[in-house]
Amino acid sequence: MRIGLLGGTFDPIHVGHLVAAVNVRHELSLDVVLLVVANHPWQKIGQRPVTPAADRLALVRAAVEGVEGIEASALEIDRGGISYTADTVSELEERFPGAEIHLVIGADVAMQLGTWERIEEVRTRVRLVVVNRPGSAAVNPGREGPLARWKADAVEIPALEISSTDLRDRSATGRPLDFLIPEPAIRVLRERCLYGQER
Ligand code: ATP
Ligand code: MG
Repeated sequence: MRIGLLGGTFDPIHVGHLVAAVNVRHELSLDVVLLVVANHPWQKIGQRPVTPAADRLALVRAAVEGVEGIEASALEIDRGGISYTADTVSELEERFPGAEIHLVIGADVAMQLGTWERIEEVRTRVRLVVVNRPGSAAVNPGREGPLARWKADAVEIPALEISSTDLRDRSATGRPLDFLIPEPAIRVLRERCLYGQER
């Protein structure tokens, strides 16, 4: 089995995440791409209030409902505590013995990989997939620079200048979220009054 692991805070999920997931799945012929919702995103703690994990998971579930080969994963939420990718990779290896794990990240995250917990452990157990992201320099994984030692692929996706940060701001100031977040997820966001939305 070939599994894509796209981790994130998804606060909230947006079409940038989904376009990355479906294109990586297609290009690398993956069976499934798991959108793994971070329980406690340790790198974001203390910087801003993070929406409760259950709400972020509900948005991801609504967004991928009916999308073939893309699934919401509660693995890190069920595990609880701070979410480290090294632990998530271990859990996936246990659940799917013999699977090839492809860790999908945007170019912005590629620059910070060195700060991750037990990163060497992760490096030896996955293939890295880097997708381009507007505002971040292109990376050449597996060949040069900080990612030279990784088994890696680069997948070119349509450049979408969309971020959860901007969407939180849009929502709080009443600007449209339409076509930036899948409609079913917008409905959940409104039902739960997230990001300054009124019922
Ligand atoms: P925030 O602004 O809160 O950091 P975000 O939009 O960066 O949110 P994350 O949940 O932090 O979303 O990102 C999860 C993963 O998806 C990361 O690897 C990130 O690089 C990638 N990603 C997010 N948005 C895009 C995009 N528009 N294009 C390509 N990759 C993206
Ligand atoms: Mg981010």
